Amino acid sequence: MSAVNIGAVGVGATKGDSAGTSVADGADVPRAAGLRPVEELRALAASGAEELHEASAEQIVRWVADNFAVQRTAVACSMADAVLPHLVSSVTPGVDVLFLDTGYHFVETYATRDEVARTLDVRVVDVKPLQTVAEQDAEFGAELFARDPNLCCARRKVEPLHRALAGYELWFTGVRREEAPTRTATRFVAFDEKNGLVKVNPLAAWTFDQVIDYASAHAVPMNLLLGNGYPSIGCEPCTRPVAPGEDPRSGRWAGLAKTECGLHL
Ligand code: SF4
Repeated sequence: MSAVNIGAVGVGATKGDSAGTSVADGADVPRAAGLRPVEELRALAASGAEELHEASAEQIVRWVADNFAVQRTAVACSMADAVLPHLVSSVTPGVDVLFLDTGYHFVETYATRDEVARTLDVRVVDVKPLQTVAEQDAEFGAELFARDPNLCCARRKVEPLHRALAGYELWFTGVRREEAPTRTATRFVAFDEKNGLVKVNPLAAWTFDQVIDYASAHAVPMNLLLGNGYPSIGCEPCTRPVAPGEDPRSGRWAGLAKTECGLHL
């Protein structure tokens, strides 16, 4: 149970085995030393996808534990709930949980992050953008999220995650097919070509009720906003509550055509 920060240096440097290169904006990121070749990971993803296409979430996590070292595995978590970190750490204790600390989160989200670090057998890694909010404001003007949310997400979410993932062979996400039309084809296991590692979505077939049931059964930390009209939680300026029966993700970037931050496209 611990927490670390990742700023402008890749996560592998924190573990002592990375080139530790400071990443220039938009530049590609060197993979950490000791990772298996991309071709080997791509083949593993293909065999996992075939083997696990009807597997349970628990079976998927166990397949990962059998084929990947915990030090090479990361769990992405938005801190809306801690179901995925709980599920993964129950099989692979000590796993890294990546939290994209955009600088724009609700206080309830930071509180959930702290609760996860305190109660689960994981290492929470705060993944930070290259610029603080103040530095971004100075370069692009205040409230970039209101004028160009795609650029804001690219700088505060997509680039930092890409940099952090260079230290791993596999990442877990909590993406579920029912969340949005853009997610209906989500596979349990795939090779993530954009980031160069295996991507595993063990909750892809779960409903929102299954998430809540798992959280209740295991006393998993949950973001207080979930029970207050926020079924989908992102950065505070880009998230509003939704009415009962509304599309759960309609509160994200409300009024804009944007529906995804770019992490899962
Ligand atoms: Fe910026 Fe909004 Fe994207 Fe957060 S969700 S990174 S504030 S545009």
